[in-house]
Amino acid sequence: MKIDFKKIDFKNIKLRKPDFSKFRFPKLNIRKPHINWEPLLVRIRACSWYPKAVETAKELKVRYLAAKEWSRVHFRRWACLVHEASSDSRARNPLAFLAVAAVLGVTMTLGTLYSVSFSVTVDGESVGKVARRSIADQAIESVEKQGRELLGYDYQVGDEVDYKISLSLKSDLSDEKAIENYLYDQLSEVSDQLRKYEVRLNGRPVGVVEDKYALHDLLDEMKNEYVNENTVSAEFMEEVTLDYIYNAETVLTIPEMKEALKANTTGQTTYEVQQGDTFNGIAYANDTSISDLKALNPKVDINRLMVGDVLTVKKTIPALSIQTVDHVTYEQSIPCPTETREDSSMYKGDSKIVRKGTEGVSSVEANVTYMNGVEQSREIISTTTVKEPTATIKAVGTKERPKTASTGSYAWPIRGRINDYFGPRTLFGKYNFHSGIDIGCSYGAPIKAADGGKVTFSGWKGGYGNLVIITHDNGTKTYYGHNSSLVVSAGQRVYKGQVIAKAGSTGKSTGVHCHFEIRVNNKAVDPLNYLP
Ligand SMILES: [Zn+2]
Repeated sequence: MKIDFKKIDFKNIKLRKPDFSKFRFPKLNIRKPHINWEPLLVRIRACSWYPKAVETAKELKVRYLAAKEWSRVHFRRWACLVHEASSDSRARNPLAFLAVAAVLGVTMTLGTLYSVSFSVTVDGESVGKVARRSIADQAIESVEKQGRELLGYDYQVGDEVDYKISLSLKSDLSDEKAIENYLYDQLSEVSDQLRKYEVRLNGRPVGVVEDKYALHDLLDEMKNEYVNENTVSAEFMEEVTLDYIYNAETVLTIPEMKEALKANTTGQTTYEVQQGDTFNGIAYANDTSISDLKALNPKVDINRLMVGDVLTVKKTIPALSIQTVDHVTYEQSIPCPTETREDSSMYKGDSKIVRKGTEGVSSVEANVTYMNGVEQSREIISTTTVKEPTATIKAVGTKERPKTASTGSYAWPIRGRINDYFGPRTLFGKYNFHSGIDIGCSYGAPIKAADGGKVTFSGWKGGYGNLVIITHDNGTKTYYGHNSSLVVSAGQRVYKGQVIAKAGSTGKSTGVHCHFEIRVNNKAVDPLNYLP
C-alpha cells in the first residue's frame, strides 16, 4: 500500500498513551533458608568427623559461614569459567549475560572487602586477626626467640594460644609486625630493653634510634637552630612519628639520626661547568629557569662561565624542614617624592634640582615566615610613619628652545681624514703641543658650527689664520682655524650645522684643512673625546 502523506491530516491524529497503572512487575519468590541451629548441632555431634572445637551453636554457625564463604570464593572461579564459555552467546542471549555479570559484580565486590580470617587470642586475650595462622605463628616464634635470648630462659608468650576462624573486613586484618608489637608490649620487662624507635617522616622510615628522650632533644635542638627572641612559632614541615620496633637491623646514633634528618632530598645540587656549556643549557638540563639559576648563583657572571666553575643548580631541601615565623618590628626608609616646578627662564627639556629632599622613616611590624632560615614570605601587619619625607623640587624649563641654543653635543665641522691628532708633535722641526685636530678637506668646502652658540671671534689670529670661535651656552668654546674666508661675524648667534666659514690654508698651515679645537674652561681638550 502506498501512503500519500500529503493527504494525512496530522492535526486530527490522536496518540494513545500506554496505561502504566496496569503494569505489574513479576513477583520474585525467594525464600531465605531458615536453619534451626540447635537440633542441627545435636545431629552433627553424633558424626565421627565432627570437629571438637565446635561446642556451641554459635560456633557451628561461624563454621557454616566460613564454609559458605569458601563456596562463594570458588563460585567466583566457576562464574569466571561460565563467563568465558558464554562469551560467544552474549549476543544471542543478552539477558542471561547481564544476569551472570550482575552476580559476578556483587560477589567480586564482597570478595575484595571480606576475607576468611583467624582471630588470635593469647590466654583468652584478643591479639588481632590474621589472614593466615602462619603470620601469628611467626610473630610468636620471633618474640619468644628474642625473649629467650634476653632473659636467658625458655620464654613463652602465653600458656594457651588460640585461633578462631571468622569472616573479617580485610582492612581489619593485622600483619606480623602488629602482632609482634602487641606481644612485645605484653612483656614489659623484655620489651623495655628491646624497644627501639623508628622515626618516620610523613610515614616514610628514616632510621631507628634507641633513646626516645635523646631523639626528642635532637628534634628540639633542630627546631631551636632557627628560633630567636622574635620567633612566635616553629614547626616541622613533615609529620614526625615514632613507631615501636623490636628487631631493628641497624640502629642509628643521635648524630647519625641528625645527619639523616638534615640530609638533602634534592640530589646533586652543584654542577661543574664543562667545555661547551652555556648558562641556558645548564638551566635547561636542570629543569630550572634562567632567572632561578641566576638567583641561586648571585656571584656568577653568566656571560663569563669558565670550565671548572661550580654552579649551584638546585636548592638544598633537608629531609626534615623547619618553618618558623618571626614577629619583627623594624625601620624602613620612605623614599622622598619629587615635585616639579615650571621655570620659564630655562629651555624646554632642561631641568635642575632646586632642593634636594630627604627620605622619611617608617616603623614596620611584620610576620616573616622562614623555611630552614630562608625567608619565604613577609606579612606586613602595620606601617607607621616616624618621620615624613620632604620632597625634592625639580625645576623644568618651559622656554621655547631657539634654534641657535646649544644642545650640549658636538657634530663634526667637516668630514675628512684626520691629518694631525691632538697632543704633542713636531712641526717645522720644533716641538709643540697640538691643541686640536686637523681635518683634511678641499679648498672652499663649507665649515659648519659643531653646536649652537654665539660667535665670539671671527677674524685673523696669528698662526690660526682666519679663525672663528663659537662660545656655547655652557661656556665651552669651539675653534675653527685656517679658513679661506669667514661667513659669520662676532656677536652673531649660529645654530648647530650652520656654515660659518670656507676651508683654506691661512696662517701657520701646511695644506688645506680645518683646525678644530674644543676648550672646556678655556683649556683645550681632545675633540675626539667629544665628537660622535
Ligand atoms: Zn691644527
